[in-house]
Amino acid sequence: MSALLTVRDLHVRFNTGGPLARALGRDTHIEGVAGVDLDIAPGETMALVGESGSGKTTLARAVAGLGGDITGEVLFDGKPVAGRTGGEAKALRRDVAFMFQDAVSSLSPRFTIRGLIEEPFRIHGQPIPEGEVERLLGLVGLSAEMADRRPHELSGGQARRVGVARALALEPRLVIADEPTAGLDVSVQSEVLNLLNDLRERLDLAILIITHNLNIVRHVADKMAIMYLGRFVEIGETQAIFAQPRHPYTKALLSANPIIDAEARRDRIALEGEVPSLTQRPEGCEFHGRCPFARDLCAREAPDRTREPARSYTCHFPLEEEAPA
Ligand code: SF4
Repeated sequence: MSALLTVRDLHVRFNTGGPLARALGRDTHIEGVAGVDLDIAPGETMALVGESGSGKTTLARAVAGLGGDITGEVLFDGKPVAGRTGGEAKALRRDVAFMFQDAVSSLSPRFTIRGLIEEPFRIHGQPIPEGEVERLLGLVGLSAEMADRRPHELSGGQARRVGVARALALEPRLVIADEPTAGLDVSVQSEVLNLLNDLRERLDLAILIITHNLNIVRHVADKMAIMYLGRFVEIGETQAIFAQPRHPYTKALLSANPIIDAEARRDRIALEGEVPSLTQRPEGCEFHGRCPFARDLCAREAPDRTREPARSYTCHFPLEEEAPA
């Protein structure tokens, strides 16, 4: 299946320095995303996983053409995202929708739910079809009477559903969901996830999920990418990666998950130390200061990417499947 979103060797840089640093001639640029490749097909869900500050949100914003000093290639439906103006920029904003992390505070209290769902149409100067608000509410499992309520009258789960309805208003082809279940009770989390899964199947949506929650990844993502300091240390099919992570950082994240079975937890890798600063990237493998398997080579040389049919990863000494006893 051909990709809806294609990213090749993407770098996103920021200037973190103020006038003083510039006057002193210091290079204050950091690379929030450092050379990533990914493909998402229609109807496919990809999860971006990693600790805070790993570059997940920076990457998601860059693929939607928002923010940062970007080099590399981002193609949406075969056409570059960068440099779009006028109608092409507008089409991209229609085709790529964001679901924000904090559903309740992203809904303005000045509007009713009807006003909030109609807002994307108004912003894009599009007519609002008769009964469209009710149709969208129905699509996300809310009754038509919700249309007259205000955000503070909704539960967290209902607000999240309104966020999904708004995101779907202009019939996007890619939805970027930033921590779609953050702050929700476990039962409501699975409702929202089932809803996204269902919509993906019915509307052939591509979904890019940013999350810390590996249960979500296992539940909804066809593919996952594990980010560390703005790079993909491992990317591939979710099932293959959960069954046997190759990169020690992936294994550390997976084995920190409380729902994994006891057997997997016995050989867990505890993640120690802090993520290094982007202003001082370590030499060699950037994970070597925290990796329990690091050897001399790791501190000297950055590992190349190894490609297997179901995933790729960057590690000199990847984890192997244990031989059966
Ligand atoms: Fe650990 Fe070395 Fe692999 Fe880096 S290259 S993850 S330090 S074993």
